[in-house]
Amino acid sequence: MAEAEDERAAKRQKEGEAEQADVDMPDAEAPAATADPPKQIPVQQLMRAYYGNIFPYQEMYEWLVYSNDSRHAQADSGFFQRREFCFTLDGDIFVRYQSFKDGAELHAALVRQVPAKIDIGPMYNVDPRRRNAYAGLENGFQPRQRELVFDIDLTDYDDVRTCGSGGHICSECWPFMAVAVQILDAALRDDFGFNHILWVFSGRRGIHAWVCDKRARELTDEQRGSIAAFLSVYKGQENGQAKILLSHHPSIDRAHGLLLPFWKEEILPRQKLLLDSAHWRSVLSFLPDQEIQHTLSSRWEAENARGIADEEACSRGRWQDVEDAVARVVNTKAVDKGLKFALQKGLKECVFAHVYPRLDVEVSKKRNHLLKAPLCVHPKTGKVCVPFAAVDAPTFDPDAVPTVSQLLDEFSAERSARQEHPGAAAMEKGEGWKHTSLASCMTVFVQSFLQPLCAAGREELGSKAREAAAQPSLAW
Ligand SMILES: [Zn+2]
Repeated sequence: MAEAEDERAAKRQKEGEAEQADVDMPDAEAPAATADPPKQIPVQQLMRAYYGNIFPYQEMYEWLVYSNDSRHAQADSGFFQRREFCFTLDGDIFVRYQSFKDGAELHAALVRQVPAKIDIGPMYNVDPRRRNAYAGLENGFQPRQRELVFDIDLTDYDDVRTCGSGGHICSECWPFMAVAVQILDAALRDDFGFNHILWVFSGRRGIHAWVCDKRARELTDEQRGSIAAFLSVYKGQENGQAKILLSHHPSIDRAHGLLLPFWKEEILPRQKLLLDSAHWRSVLSFLPDQEIQHTLSSRWEAENARGIADEEACSRGRWQDVEDAVARVVNTKAVDKGLKFALQKGLKECVFAHVYPRLDVEVSKKRNHLLKAPLCVHPKTGKVCVPFAAVDAPTFDPDAVPTVSQLLDEFSAERSARQEHPGAAAMEKGEGWKHTSLASCMTVFVQSFLQPLCAAGREELGSKAREAAAQPSLAW
């Protein structure tokens, strides 16, 4: 039954027909979370129950409508309908340019089509489902607004992490993401003045940022490119080594202040980057002084030969060796000024090369780049792409992120408990998530992101209304 429905949905979508969802989906159609789902059930088989019972569609709508709903006189009533959603259906069928009137319509489509993934695209000048009618016209079909987005993935850190590679993520390498959040969050707020930033765990091994201030949403592709370039201190790899370009902007000093303690206290001890010769050579190669490189390498090789009792203490001690060696040269009067400068610069570049955020800049540059929606479920891990607060990034545990099967278990338990007590209040539609582990993540989303965003939206619409009222009337 469900399969046939999926097939029909996929067929309709292949034909390019964006469909109209039933707004009032009867509860019976929202499949019940099974009372006791087996642990190894494939993620995709759980998705209908997740969308039906737990997915916070109303909160997603309240975010993406940016206060343009019927409660506000100056609202742009077609705002949400002009937003592109892309569903990835089972079998990797991409269905782009879908749009919905409101949260309920989005919800009904999710339950009916059960996408493995939801991507969010730009808000266009017209409803994306009607784009063909505008093809070929001047200013025909164009993106108008799009959050400024950032994507950082741990796979881009494989040369500087020793705990694993590829799709791997653990508490030893999460600190790379935690410090990336803090650096970017500070830059977006302090250097660009943005206030409404949503941080999301991408479900497997990375993070996304959505900058939602109106000013950010209205940036052109060119302006996005400039911001991405400003934040791209890490310029990829050259000859097997991270390439770094440090400007004289004060943001670099601020970043260095955040990165250095992280590098010394978190990354070096956890990743053991100074414990084996391959990695320490890479670290020492940032110091343009053969003598320092040789002296330290020889000393550490001898230490290794004797055996390392405390690896964490050894990691910290060896970085101190590096700093001391540079300080000795810098404090020697007879040494050339150029070398002193190069060594100090090398020390700084080494830290940036290892821990400064490695952005996937292509994601940030174009308004029409799709990005996976928050609160999706990763099809491989079953983990929900949960929002988190930037300040909580250091203590965020990617292993503790709730999975779809866990949420459905919790939801079922709550529903069963209510059914056993006839006097218990029925569960409100759209509020299933409140009875699961998603509640704490959603509290962060609502209180630290959605509420201030809505307040700013209301304020903006209010000032628009006041401006309109202050205009002299043309009526005689
Ligand atoms: Zn790891």
